[in-house]
Amino acid sequence: MHNGAKRRVTIVGGGVAALEALLALRSLAGDLASVELVADTPQFSYRPLAVAEPFGLGTCHRFDLTRITRDQGATLHVAGVDAVEPEAQRIVTWDGRRFDYDLLLVAVGARATTAIPGSVSIKGPAYTSRFRTVLRELDERQITRVVFAVPAGASWPLPLYELALLTAAHVAERGLRKVQLQLITHESSPLDLFGATASAVVRELLEGSGIEVLMNRVPLEARQGELVTAPGPALAADRVVSLPGTIGPAIRGLPQDRDGFISVDLHGHVRGLEDVYAAGDATTCPIKQGGVAAQQADAAAEAIAARLGRDLDPRPFRPVLRGLLLTGAAPRYLQAEVAGGRGDAGQVSEHALWWPPSKVAGQHLAPYLASQLNALDGPGGGVHVEVRVAAGSFPAER
Ligand SMILES: Cc1cc2nc3c(=O)[nH]c(=O)nc-3n(C[C@H](O)[C@H](O)[C@H](O)COP(=O)(O)OP(=O)(O)OC[C@H]3O[C@@H](n4cnc5c(N)ncnc54)[C@H](O)[C@@H]3O)c2cc1C
Repeated sequence: MHNGAKRRVTIVGGGVAALEALLALRSLAGDLASVELVADTPQFSYRPLAVAEPFGLGTCHRFDLTRITRDQGATLHVAGVDAVEPEAQRIVTWDGRRFDYDLLLVAVGARATTAIPGSVSIKGPAYTSRFRTVLRELDERQITRVVFAVPAGASWPLPLYELALLTAAHVAERGLRKVQLQLITHESSPLDLFGATASAVVRELLEGSGIEVLMNRVPLEARQGELVTAPGPALAADRVVSLPGTIGPAIRGLPQDRDGFISVDLHGHVRGLEDVYAAGDATTCPIKQGGVAAQQADAAAEAIAARLGRDLDPRPFRPVLRGLLLTGAAPRYLQAEVAGGRGDAGQVSEHALWWPPSKVAGQHLAPYLASQLNALDGPGGGVHVEVRVAAGSFPAER
């Protein structure tokens, strides 16, 4: 144990899961632990608004981690973690530094890959200028055919639907004629992860915007004016816009699957390691989404608080998906409860179903960020989607 009464909890990462865990721990066990954050960058970028930025509908806010950690009574070390040495309760950084921990939470996210070679892949805020170029090419009539392609492995395809809808609104607003927009996906109905009600709403939005939707087809590669798909035939495309694929962080010393994702139970406990927890996109959880990452972080924070001596019964991770779909039209909210699997009934509302109505619905993070910025998710026109995911899709409780 760390010298003195307080135990040292180290959180690795500076994204959604790491910050949600930091805020949750502060509220649950702030007096019982000294918390350190080890992140490879001193900033937190709010990635979801990457799709809104090219349209001038939002800004990818960046938050200073030094300020956030200071606010929360924690310490920040800017360093990339290369390995965990569980026996020694120590992490090793890329530049050879070593930090001891009593309890460790790893939340380093996933690594983005280009899932569809030759496409414009929107991996986050740093890629918005690439999509701006596509819009400019449309405006200048250099291109007329744009295909939005959901890659086979994308578990969170919603941002691509937003890009398609916002592009359609852009095209309509500018009166650009003879533009052909298509959305191709491996899904059997639009955003089928959210169930039948959300799917019907999204289909209506797409069709009403003049976007042709092609289901049950996997986009493979963009080349020479076409998109190769399985099954074929190839689609004619001046530009193909896609989302990244993900691979695991492959942190040495942690049990992981063959793609480098960390294996955890429903309390975020890393299998086989007594004092190590993990949350978010870095884990084997099949849905790589900010709200889900935050919920995993909350479950891990409760488990850690109990380990620190807080008298509570840690609740397991029970994923609920919440998504805000920017449409370019009037704001709408949609919620779907799924009891036994996908495709169950949902509910659509023109009013916010939760507050603050943020794109990353983290219990602690959303209000915290909203308090830092008055209007975090400013752009108008959206559909909120909430769905309870079948427990069977996630790792079993220990
Ligand atoms: C274009 C786009 C739009 C999206 N829109 C939404 C949306 O609307 N709603 C939603 O809920 N989700 C959305 N997502 C998904 C969401 O961004 C991720 O699921 C979420 O950020 C995952 O959180 P995380 O904390 O696990 O990982 P991240 O947010 O990726 O954070 C990982 C952190 O760890 C740090 N790190 C990485 N490696 C190391 C290391 N070795 N050592 C130390 N630090 C390290 C990183 O710098 C980063 O700070 C979107 C994703 C994309 C690409």
